[in-house]
Amino acid sequence: MHFSIVGSGISGIATAIRLARLGHQVDVFEQHSTYGGKLGVLEMGEFRFDTGPSLFTMPQFVRELLDEDLNQKFQVETLPVLCNYFFSDHSRFQVSSNQDTFVKEAAQFFSENPKAISGFLEKSKIVYDITAPVFLENSLHKLSTYTKPTGLKGIANLWRLEMFKTMNQSLEKRFTNPKLVQFFSRYATYNGSDPYQAPATLNVIPHLEFEYGAHLPKLGMRQIADIMVEQALRLGVSFHYNQKVKSINYHNKMITSLSLENNQEFSTDGVIANVDAKIVYNKLLNIEIPKKIAQAENSSSALIFYWGINRSFPELDVHNIFFAENYKEEFKTIFKTLSLHHDPTIYINITSKVVKQDAPSDGENWFVMINVPYNNGQDWNQITHQAKSLILDKLSKHLKVDIQNHIVCESVLDPVTIESKTGSNKGSLYGSSSNDRMSAFFRQSNFSNQFDNLYFCGGSVHPGGGIPLCLLSAKIVSKVIFEKN
Ligand SMILES: Cc1cc2nc3c(=O)[nH]c(=O)nc-3n(C[C@H](O)[C@H](O)[C@H](O)COP(=O)(O)OP(=O)(O)OC[C@H]3O[C@@H](n4cnc5c(N)ncnc54)[C@H](O)[C@@H]3O)c2cc1C
Repeated sequence: MHFSIVGSGISGIATAIRLARLGHQVDVFEQHSTYGGKLGVLEMGEFRFDTGPSLFTMPQFVRELLDEDLNQKFQVETLPVLCNYFFSDHSRFQVSSNQDTFVKEAAQFFSENPKAISGFLEKSKIVYDITAPVFLENSLHKLSTYTKPTGLKGIANLWRLEMFKTMNQSLEKRFTNPKLVQFFSRYATYNGSDPYQAPATLNVIPHLEFEYGAHLPKLGMRQIADIMVEQALRLGVSFHYNQKVKSINYHNKMITSLSLENNQEFSTDGVIANVDAKIVYNKLLNIEIPKKIAQAENSSSALIFYWGINRSFPELDVHNIFFAENYKEEFKTIFKTLSLHHDPTIYINITSKVVKQDAPSDGENWFVMINVPYNNGQDWNQITHQAKSLILDKLSKHLKVDIQNHIVCESVLDPVTIESKTGSNKGSLYGSSSNDRMSAFFRQSNFSNQFDNLYFCGGSVHPGGGIPLCLLSAKIVSKVIFEKN
């Protein structure tokens, strides 16, 4: 059969590989001149930056897509330090990727019972192992998912998911030190959510980081998209760049063709949309967005400064966090008042710590990000200006050096540009947030209920945003298509 994929984000490329391996003819239409969507790249003089994702977990989901020789070519560094945390009292905690070392060091640093920490991670593992095969690796919207033995086991263990508590409530019950609670709460941001609203189910995320590690491809994050496209081309997938899809056309319950912005029409046996689901309904199908999807709250967005820095900072690692003093207030500002917090938590990613060619030998490439609300018409010029000054002030105090004096080049990405560059609704990074305990069930399913041959993959659909889950959505879509054809 002949399938068309709209969008060449990570999930679109993964779906193309999987469908081509099933023997289908695949065309991918991308509005921009290159593939990868949010996995973009930026070069400024001697500095190179990955513009989107910086944390790579569960590389096995990329590896399983690749031929053996490409797997060898795709070299990935496993980071010994997961992240460096700087707390508002200026104390600093470095997180070892070795779980036993982490438990020992965290117990000491946070004056907490090591058994409470290891018990928490062990419980997360049990929950993940029982529920992931049901809730992350299958469609939530097919009866067969629940009638298989794994499905029945998952349902029997639903109570373990702690859906009726928030992440923060669960953490506060377990730990006494507010800094440790803050540390584990941060994992809610891995899918753009608020730990004070999101269900405690998300407490499985730290387990994934310790179990599968944090990784960085030897050539930077962009290499993930590069290697996958190389694989797709090898399998005969055709990529059409600078081809914005204007509409997905249908007759009764069947998708028949795509119309491109240049007025060309492309007939097809089926479409996989790798575009934000709300935009697929609204703009491409031109029909009403199903109510539960329309009502789903967008995930948070980000404001990112890409700074070329003319010196190195040995106290920093690949991933670094400078926490806000009042984390609860910060999330309230992001999700309730939809504005900028006066003391934002700052994330700095420095790939040049590993990928030496990303910066001159005496410099570093800083990706400086704060979480901000999705675009709701705020004045982003003014917010960017204000945020830069808050960030510079805070970093200069922590690092005891005037950072402004060391910035040699700068580029900025805000929610509006995230939307225009990647097509994400309102610039949200991860589609819809997981703040509601039913969010997982309200996300767009991987297939359409209205059209027999329309499918969905990517960050805004089941099982959610972030590279690993986007790759799982590709796996689910191809399984659904395989079972159907
Ligand atoms: C700043 C930032 C930081 C992030 N950090 C992390 C991280 O550390 N770790 C992690 O795992 N995830 C992270 N994420 C999330 C992750 O990047 C996304 O979940 C994932 O890349 C989304 O992939 P996708 O397949 O949904 O496609 P997208 O990347 O959203 O790409 C969609 C593609 O569709 C194209 N398109 C849209 N409309 C049309 C149209 N009409 N016609 C043709 N083409 C169209 C777009 O141009 C784009 O190329 C981050 C995201 C951002 C933006």
